[in-house]
Amino acid sequence: MRLTHPLCFSIIALLSAAAAHPQASGAPELPYSPSLNLTSIDKSIDPCVNLYQYSCGRWQQQNPIPPDQTGWSVYGKLYEDNLNFLRGILEQAAATTGQRDTVTQKIGDFYAACIDESAIETRGITAIQPQLDAIARLQSVHDLAALAAQFHLYSNRSMLFGAGSSQDPDNSDQVIAELDQGGLGLPDRDYYTKDDAKSKEARERYLQHVQKTFEMLGDKPETAKANAQTLMRIETSLANASWTRVEQRDPYKLKHKMDLAALKALIPNFDWQTYYAQLQYPQFPILNVSAPAFFKKLNAELASEPLANWKTYLRFRVVDLASPYLSASFVQENFDFYRGYLRGAKEMQPRWKRCVQYTDRDLGEALGQAYVKKVFSPELKQSTLDMVQRIEAAMELRIRNLDWMSPETKQQALVKLHGIRNKIGYPDKWRDYSSVAITRNDFLGDVRNAIGFEARRDINKIGKPVDRGEWDMTPPTVDAGYNPQMNDINFPAGVLQPPLYDAKLDDAPNYGDTGGTIGHELTHGFDDEGSQFDAKGNLKNWWTKADREKFDERTKCVSDQYSSYVVVDDVHINGKLTMGEDVADLGGEILAYIAWKDANKNKKLQPIDGLSPEQRFFIGYAQWDCANDRPEDLRLRAQVDPHSPAQYRINGVVVNMPEFAQAFGCKAGQPMVKPTEKVCRVW
Ligand SMILES: [Zn+2]
Repeated sequence: MRLTHPLCFSIIALLSAAAAHPQASGAPELPYSPSLNLTSIDKSIDPCVNLYQYSCGRWQQQNPIPPDQTGWSVYGKLYEDNLNFLRGILEQAAATTGQRDTVTQKIGDFYAACIDESAIETRGITAIQPQLDAIARLQSVHDLAALAAQFHLYSNRSMLFGAGSSQDPDNSDQVIAELDQGGLGLPDRDYYTKDDAKSKEARERYLQHVQKTFEMLGDKPETAKANAQTLMRIETSLANASWTRVEQRDPYKLKHKMDLAALKALIPNFDWQTYYAQLQYPQFPILNVSAPAFFKKLNAELASEPLANWKTYLRFRVVDLASPYLSASFVQENFDFYRGYLRGAKEMQPRWKRCVQYTDRDLGEALGQAYVKKVFSPELKQSTLDMVQRIEAAMELRIRNLDWMSPETKQQALVKLHGIRNKIGYPDKWRDYSSVAITRNDFLGDVRNAIGFEARRDINKIGKPVDRGEWDMTPPTVDAGYNPQMNDINFPAGVLQPPLYDAKLDDAPNYGDTGGTIGHELTHGFDDEGSQFDAKGNLKNWWTKADREKFDERTKCVSDQYSSYVVVDDVHINGKLTMGEDVADLGGEILAYIAWKDANKNKKLQPIDGLSPEQRFFIGYAQWDCANDRPEDLRLRAQVDPHSPAQYRINGVVVNMPEFAQAFGCKAGQPMVKPTEKVCRVW
């Protein structure tokens, strides 16, 4: 099964990206800023009242959200610096003078094709004409399967449903086929089902976007309007039968293994034989259908909606998906709705920024090779690994000392801990893109070829043993992750740069920041979801019943705490959606503190710049997450993002750490001090 958030520390930093070096290109190195920045601190705030605002108050004043951004943060800024740095690599790679190796040719020509707006403009809508023609030629609903197969190579879950491979939940060494819900245009199924004024408004705006897009394809306004209603009806129907994000956090809900005959019986109106044959799936004895109710609904819709309506649905999905790579009017319409209206960005990002991001997304391990050569030294890898090992040792200590867990469960927890693999910097073996055709004059074609290559690679894994050395994050990514089925933690080179990891500063802020991130990912192996998988990544209970009940009480303490926090207006955190991340934030910082103390146990640490080592640890922690948010984006994330907003990721954690109150001399009764009996602790 595919768990819904494989990337997990700060997924939004990735989604929101970048701003403002309009002139600079090809920066020779990443700019430096320290992991503890005194100029970010607002000394007028008492840290015992609000550590986040104390640590980040001046950062917030000094860093307004750039107009092309949906939010702004320390992660976002580093991501921006990275984009600018990668731009230099790509511009060099795009120059056709001299001999280029295969990797350089792929990334250089992909970037060059993306930058060439006049070629894209000239090509116009003809770039998707073959797909539109194929839809027009469709003779029956039965023939939809063949077309869906063709489209799925580069559209996958955004068209009808998701398909591919995944690890067998019961035997994580084996890769099986998988089917998942999908087919929607709005960011989540809840957008179709909720009845509050903002959700209704979002649907209204979506209808307008769909209508406008149909008009751009040449439909008359009244036809386009009717078509938009048809699309909305089909998507709403699929949304109603889709799992919610909270439901998707329960891996048992997503496990429904069956053979092809059972699949055909469950969804007889879709021609699976043709679908799988066309995509050249290997023979497979078993597949997992993660959302059976969704597929039953799809089956019913296939019978009830006439062919003409399916053509309408497919036409919109094809053009909406291709819009970012088409001519300017399509790019603009796509921006206006998805990034402008839904997320609050005021301006589109400049072309080069988008092109760097597409290259990283589609040819990430090619671009990553050039990147790590410049920014990731063996010394950096070694010092990170040292920190990881110290934090794993802290976790072992925590497990052994837990007063609520039985020896049997503790033993199993230790087996799981010792089974975790550490992936740091970049993969041992690079992905080979030599078979991906990339030219300088067909950008949409390049995107499809690259996405199609990944889709084929995914399908070809079926029936084979899992490759545990594979990475699912690119090296320049400013994010980290834990994968419960792989039981591995992932730290790409991009997240191990200043100010997140700063080799020039003392240990305290580095442990508070990157140490906390490492602890966070490690704790994901033991959060409400990860704890259901064993050391090999199998969905298998290793808990005694009594211990699991005690664990659930502890995670509920965290969930109740976060549910009380307000995100924006009347929207609260959905503590059930963010539970795993909140538990990981809390556990991670506790582990980082123990590991930091242990690493420095023989040293007499002195105050620096008037701050004690302990204060530097906690300010370093808070400053990883300095951010400014747009209300639109906060609202969207409250529905789809499993992470809590920035201030709560800091204040919600330290309020549960008496070490914090001690470090700042906070007094009983201050907001950041909790009475002992109410402190939440899971790990
Ligand atoms: Zn996480």
